[in-house]
Amino acid sequence: MSGLSSNTDDSLISEADEPPQRRCGIGVASLSSILSFADKIPAKKVIASDACIAKTRFPLSMKSARFLRKHHHGISRTQWNDWHWQYRNTLRQAADLERVFHLSPDEQAALYHKEGGLPVSITPYYAAQIDATNPTHALRRTMIPVMAETIHSKGEEEDPLGEDNQSPTPCLVHRYPDRVLFMTTGQCSAYCRYCTRTRLVGGCGRPLYARTEWEKAIAYIQEHTEIRDVILSGGDPLTLGDETLEWLMQQVRDIPHVEVIRIGTKIPAVLPMRITPALTRMLRKYHPLWMSIHFTHPDELTAETEEACIRLADAGIPLGSQTVLLAGINDDAEVLARLFKGLMRVRVRPYYLYQCDPIQGSSHFRTPVQKGLEIMRALRGYISGYAVPTFVVDAPGGGGKIPMLPDYVTGHDENVLHLTNYKGNPYQYPDAVP
Ligand code: SF4
Repeated sequence: MSGLSSNTDDSLISEADEPPQRRCGIGVASLSSILSFADKIPAKKVIASDACIAKTRFPLSMKSARFLRKHHHGISRTQWNDWHWQYRNTLRQAADLERVFHLSPDEQAALYHKEGGLPVSITPYYAAQIDATNPTHALRRTMIPVMAETIHSKGEEEDPLGEDNQSPTPCLVHRYPDRVLFMTTGQCSAYCRYCTRTRLVGGCGRPLYARTEWEKAIAYIQEHTEIRDVILSGGDPLTLGDETLEWLMQQVRDIPHVEVIRIGTKIPAVLPMRITPALTRMLRKYHPLWMSIHFTHPDELTAETEEACIRLADAGIPLGSQTVLLAGINDDAEVLARLFKGLMRVRVRPYYLYQCDPIQGSSHFRTPVQKGLEIMRALRGYISGYAVPTFVVDAPGGGGKIPMLPDYVTGHDENVLHLTNYKGNPYQYPDAVP
């Protein structure tokens, strides 16, 4: 099953065909800066109707505008906002990265040391959001490898969650009683250096999942009537072309006992222009459909990402976020509060905060669990309860997600419960007599 190649450029909806969109409030490039370089519109023709068209197009944040001007001179804004163009121009080789970033000796060593393993892949859009000169920049650390990735520490494993042992067919994981994880593809548009499925994605290990593997998975779901929830994941299912994805969604939706379909994706953060009107029109046919979007840091909340999330929400898809707690990247209550509050503004409900899984070469990303508990205590009460995700450890070996909760109960006498509130103040609650 090929991924991005399954759609031709001809199938893309043109931006001019897009319906008017609402404003975007996050860091949009000013109209004059957009028009000054992108669309080759002669200045004298920038009249009210042109300005109106520019406002209704997919947005272009300041960082994207600067990157486009610097690295893709002559490319129009329309091309930039074509997800196929983004995919074709993805940074994959060390030389591509060297053109864009001032690489540190550590990053250079890791890029040239690489043999096999998780590939490097950064869309031009996401590269535009990354600091070109600072190797400690949060998003940069999630995408560009360093030599610490080659160190395998005690307790780290290739398949820390024991997914392979819970796979009745190669692209299914059946861990919980009523739901399955369907790994639709091994492809992502950008590869996160801490990915739990490093062994499967980006051409590592298994090849991309073939149609015959999908058919085996569908047959398994058909036979197992206890399955009511199917999570399409990967890799990233939204790297598939619309027709391919729709074929799969139709197959799953046709199974009478499947009530809910979910999609797990990072696309709105790394390739937001993939969320086209054509895609959302297709997705809304398969309700109830939910989506979990992988976000890492508030720097991902750009005008483009906001637009992508709003398009999905307007298609009636409830959106939740999944975030991995990462040392030196987002292990800070203030950073996560900004992320979670920002997600609420773009209609994404923070869903899970994950303790980083112990994959091989992940020690530089992992924080003590205690750090996560402290962050949860610092968030609860200070931001809306809707904006506070559940902090979980995914149990090694396949035990599933275990919620980690700060302890607010300090004691229990007879029928009195001793509690502390979010400020640490003591309270007594008269518990009900059994
Ligand atoms: S998008 Fe998800 S599956 Fe792809 S590399 Fe990142 S964490 Fe892994």
